[in-house]
Amino acid sequence: MPGGYLGKILVVDLTQGQWEVEPLREEHASRFLGGGGLACRYLYDLISPSTDPLGPDNILFFTTGPLVGTRAPSCGRYTACFLSPLTGIWGESNAGGFFGPEMRFAGYDGILIRGRSPEPVYLWINDGKVEVRPASHLWGLDTYRVQEAIKEEIGEPRAKIACIGPAGEKLVKMAAIINDNARAAARGGPGAVMGSKNLKAIAVKGSGTIPLHNEAAFNEVAREARDWVREDFTAQLFHSGGTAFWMDLGHEFGDVPIKYFTKGYFEGTGKLSGATMAETILVKTSACYGCPIACGRVIEVKEGQYKLPVTEGPEYETLCSLGTLLMVDNLAAVSYANHLCNSLGLDTISVGVTIAFAYYLFDRGVVSEREVGFALKWGDPEGAIRLIELISRKEGFGAILAEGVRSVGERFGLPEEAAHVKGLEVPMHEPRAFFGSALAYATSPRGACHMQGDPYAVDSGSAIPEIGIIPGDRFSAEDKAWMVARIQDWRALYNSMIMCQFCSPGPERIAKLLREATGWDIGIEELVKIGRDIFDLKRAFNVKMGVKRQDDHLPSLLLRPLPDGGAQGAVPDMEKLLADYYAVRDWTEEGTLKPERMRELGLA
Ligand code: SF4
Repeated sequence: MPGGYLGKILVVDLTQGQWEVEPLREEHASRFLGGGGLACRYLYDLISPSTDPLGPDNILFFTTGPLVGTRAPSCGRYTACFLSPLTGIWGESNAGGFFGPEMRFAGYDGILIRGRSPEPVYLWINDGKVEVRPASHLWGLDTYRVQEAIKEEIGEPRAKIACIGPAGEKLVKMAAIINDNARAAARGGPGAVMGSKNLKAIAVKGSGTIPLHNEAAFNEVAREARDWVREDFTAQLFHSGGTAFWMDLGHEFGDVPIKYFTKGYFEGTGKLSGATMAETILVKTSACYGCPIACGRVIEVKEGQYKLPVTEGPEYETLCSLGTLLMVDNLAAVSYANHLCNSLGLDTISVGVTIAFAYYLFDRGVVSEREVGFALKWGDPEGAIRLIELISRKEGFGAILAEGVRSVGERFGLPEEAAHVKGLEVPMHEPRAFFGSALAYATSPRGACHMQGDPYAVDSGSAIPEIGIIPGDRFSAEDKAWMVARIQDWRALYNSMIMCQFCSPGPERIAKLLREATGWDIGIEELVKIGRDIFDLKRAFNVKMGVKRQDDHLPSLLLRPLPDGGAQGAVPDMEKLLADYYAVRDWTEEGTLKPERMRELGLA
């Protein structure tokens, strides 16, 4: 086994209550590295179109990558991969914190879960030893309390725990997996998949280390990369303002979605900015394993209706999805709603978008106070807070929203007003503000997604010139396809190493890190090629699940000109963007991989 890998996958069959250790398939690791890439290669063989995402045949695969748990900067993440119950296609969610590195210190590159336990259970993995423990007494606990309860039960306060809350138990399709207090692997409903398996949590603890091809050389490059990242201007913005630093800047570009994607300007954004958070409720910053950036915010709301103990504060995405999207500018209320989602185990993006759609439908008279149970008024956070609780319990109007925005749109006969692509709710970057984002949303392997390609970052100034990624005209469809494909390939690589996307030590240092970790002869072009292979692999998975060209579709809601703000009047030409993109990708006109490419990827 090359350096960077432990060479072991823990395979747990919950139906049988048994587990075994399988050798990591080196041929898959050498081609697709780890994280989403490696998991997709496994799941391509294990999942078919007839697999029920919430049935025992679905697989939930927790993976890491060759850099996770090493001294490389910001490599403390893990990925949960699965067939998504929300979208029916490729599901991939990753989270920071410490769970991923600890899984490796406990002896495993990945944990593959199959089957369904007859009773609620949790896994306790301690330095290679595995126990499947009863969890009926933990069923119903929120994510904070279950983490504490398990630590006490196993007598290991330093164990790292990934768990679900009540929403995952209820199979809410927007349910998240929460680890290390409030880090969330949220998108696509991994919490529902975990709940469908009657798996409440996984606790890990280990004392191992990661074997490296050339440890001394690796540590020297890692030190150099950490120093570089500390000096990086964007990293400093993330440190000083958290991800919420983008609120002010993004608003200037018209990138902040407002009033359910119908406006481009909102006076209240200043009250939700990173600077306002720092001046009002911020207690301190926090960092994931080995991260010199520390974008996390720890907050406390000391008084008032939305009083909160010291806890994790909202990120940019949540400040929009539970704030600007509802015209709410009350930072304490958004923080409260964020805390509620974390404790119930919900994806704040999908939940926020779906609730905003409910506000929109209410405003247009499509749903009434009688149906919802109370009034939904733009700017009022109370309706959202009540809906979050109802969604988590699948009660009343919450049961309708719990299926996600696509389902709500279909139910009320307004599918083109539902903000999603392939069933995944649109994240908090306006596709009309950066046309590259529109194309990336349409073609991302998990549906509308800002983490499998972030052209808004490129066209607002973040260049990676070594691989040809340079900012262009954000409102132009010309030359956009190549740049979008390139940044998607680059992020596919990031999501497989795994390195946090806020960390940019540059392609040469990344190639050196992988070279010294694994011993493989990897240069910059090889990095891009690996990324492209991973991206195409995920497309092949989705094609196998039935995805076609017509699914690469943005709803009409997102293709109407905005009346105000930094993207006023702009609308991307999706036909041209997609035609160019398929040509760049060398896909067929139907959006499928050509037979020779399938053979090249070993998928024939
Ligand atoms: S930048 Fe933020 S999310 Fe990324 S690893 Fe660091 S603390 Fe975690």
